[in-house]
Amino acid sequence: MTMLLEVSGIETFYGASQALFGVDLSVAEGEVVALMGRNGMGKTTTIRSICRLNPPRKGRIAFAGRDIAGLRAFRVARLGIGLVPEGRRCFPNLTVRENLVAAARTGQWTLSRIEALFPRLAERRDQFASTLSGGEQQMLAIGRALMTNPRLLILDEATEGLAPVIRRDIWTSIRTLKAEGQSILVVDKTMAELLPVADRCTIIEKGRTAWTGIPAELTDAIRDRLLGV
Ligand code: ATP
Repeated sequence: MTMLLEVSGIETFYGASQALFGVDLSVAEGEVVALMGRNGMGKTTTIRSICRLNPPRKGRIAFAGRDIAGLRAFRVARLGIGLVPEGRRCFPNLTVRENLVAAARTGQWTLSRIEALFPRLAERRDQFASTLSGGEQQMLAIGRALMTNPRLLILDEATEGLAPVIRRDIWTSIRTLKAEGQSILVVDKTMAELLPVADRCTIIEKGRTAWTGIPAELTDAIRDRLLGV
């Protein structure tokens, strides 16, 4: 299987403090991979390493067969990695449509496809992003990332802190994206919703990849050891 994203042995630091000690992870074309682990184990740092917001000091990251070492973060984005960061960031003083158009790059994703995926965004297209609910802002953040026509979409805690109805809508859209063949790397704490959409899972423990497998192989013993509180 040819891998779209291949991360091997990365070590990442915050100043002198080491956060990652050897993370291995891969995402194949069209695959949905869940990145899991308890709080503070290094999920967000792994994502920031991939996007080169916190470039690793050791190890290798290849995207679409190309080593991304030395690239600036915006170059990685242009190669086709669309990040929805933790804590959703939209332009508050632009309307919903303006936010989407500002992110646009030519490709299969268009305003009308985003509005079909998220009907709430269509209803609110002329409202300022600052007037949206938290969940709607999260949808807008996902829509913005899709407007860049990413080969890989990365979602970091996309449903955290949202009302159940909105979470359900976001999971529905993630399943739609998967069915359309979108490659996705997803971090989320709601395992009951995450596992059914994941083709594979990678669990990080203290900055290292501790387990990788398909959801059906994720036994209670592994869960207790690596994901239990
Ligand atoms: P969470 O689910 O709580 O977001 P996580 O698995 O995403 O956790 P990270 O946020 O990647 O974990 O944190 C990994 C380690 O790096 C933790 O020990 C954390 O304290 C440390 N860390 C994270 N951000 C910084 C920072 N800006 N400066 C210093 N250390 C940091």
